Amino acid sequence: MEVISSPEEMQKKAFALKRAGKTISCVPTMGFLHQGHLSLIREARASADVLVVTIFVNPAQFGPSEDYRTYPRDPERDLRLCRQEQVDIVFAPETCDIYPDGYSTYIEENDLSRWLCGVDRPGHFRGVATVVTKLFNIVQPDVAYFGQKDYQQSRVITKMVKDLNLPVRIAVCPIVREDDGLAMSSRNKYLNPKERQESLCLYRALSRAEKLVMSGEYSAVTIREEMEAVIRQEPHSRIDYIEIRDGETLEPRDQVGEGTLIALAVFIGKTRLIDNLVIEKVPRSLSE
Ligand code: AMP
Repeated sequence: MEVISSPEEMQKKAFALKRAGKTISCVPTMGFLHQGHLSLIREARASADVLVVTIFVNPAQFGPSEDYRTYPRDPERDLRLCRQEQVDIVFAPETCDIYPDGYSTYIEENDLSRWLCGVDRPGHFRGVATVVTKLFNIVQPDVAYFGQKDYQQSRVITKMVKDLNLPVRIAVCPIVREDDGLAMSSRNKYLNPKERQESLCLYRALSRAEKLVMSGEYSAVTIREEMEAVIRQEPHSRIDYIEIRDGETLEPRDQVGEGTLIALAVFIGKTRLIDNLVIEKVPRSLSE
């Protein structure tokens, strides 16, 4: 496995691979890898000749009062895991290589980015879109893998790729969860044992929503109220949003149907957690 930190060297390598007729898959991450990341890496491994994992904690996607400085990092362990997964190249640049002094160019998606996490985290998706575009230009992937865990991010990137005619296919992989249902996330490390217990309310709220839909309750207002009630049972929880939206356009929906996204962001103590569910099917007899 090669570890490259220089964007120029990575890009040169990518062009050489392309000239040799190789296909490249890419998994962009911020490191502190867990099974969610590894599921993307395994999918990506099988899909191209050369697999590049990028590890970069992107300052541009953190707000001024967010956790950029304290974001968990463990580069040694990340490299060990990548080696185990037979990653070909880890691209792990320094911040100053990606954003040198005087850097002034940003990419903005201006529709899907407005909602959900875009409300509480202004500039977040601009930071994501910018770094992902830069990583695509450096790594030259044929296909790039993202997680449904960050549903809105995957939609913004898919839209950006379409709008800008970027020659890369975006693949989205399912959410990997702990045994008790908590969606895996590097930020779960922030949770103390009490908060870790309380964090299960996100999954419980989504499960409640799914159960309601399966029993024929499609009203977004009712489902949201029921989810709120589940979250409020936990003393250290604070709801940022619970949203019921079209899974493609992210427009608000009054009624849940096939392809509807149910997404939530909840603070447990100081830690902001997100999770979501896409309703694939509504009961047949009820949808007719
Ligand atoms: P991050 O390092 O948090 O920026 O995540 C890198 C990629 O891994 C993103 O595409 C995430 O959506 C994806 N990811 C993070 N957590 C999970 C999870 N629990 N299941 C599946 N994919 C995930």
